[in-house]
Amino acid sequence: MLSPIRLISEAAELAARRHNGVARKGRGNEPYINHLAEVANLLATATDGADAELVAAGWLHDSIEDTDTTREELAQRLSERVASLVVECTDDMDLPKAERRRKQIEDAPHKSPSAKLIKIADKVSNIGARIQSDPTTEERDELADYAGWAEQVVAGCRGGNPWLDTKFDDAVKAARALL
Ligand code: ZN
Repeated sequence: MLSPIRLISEAAELAARRHNGVARKGRGNEPYINHLAEVANLLATATDGADAELVAAGWLHDSIEDTDTTREELAQRLSERVASLVVECTDDMDLPKAERRRKQIEDAPHKSPSAKLIKIADKVSNIGARIQSDPTTEERDELADYAGWAEQVVAGCRGGNPWLDTKFDDAVKAARALL
């Protein structure tokens, strides 16, 4: 087992390489790695640095869904638990978007407590990226749509970490203030 610092460093470097050159959706075409750094840091803060595997999984939570990274590779390079957390946060990309969204709402209550924290941190970050000053009608609609769906997913995830729940509620409030 890698030491906590090595585990998180490995995860961050692997995430940076795998998502290299990809821009995230929303504000200013930020590099995708900004989203991963934000999710990892929300998880580290929420748990006060007590769970290195959770933070590593935060760095890598989109790696199987969006890149050619596999579960086996994550298990080998990081740990079995990191791999299994990332798998829990991976949508079946063969399904159409509406179906994936419906499944996330349906599956959320059945996730492990740690995967639920990753889901909430992911939604906090994604809502934040969609909050921009002077939004176009299209950006406003996209924010309303995303925030409404995220609330339904997070309804099935909350209760494990009050600080993270509040972060999410604050993000939704900030979004609603724009709508
Ligand atoms: Zn994500």
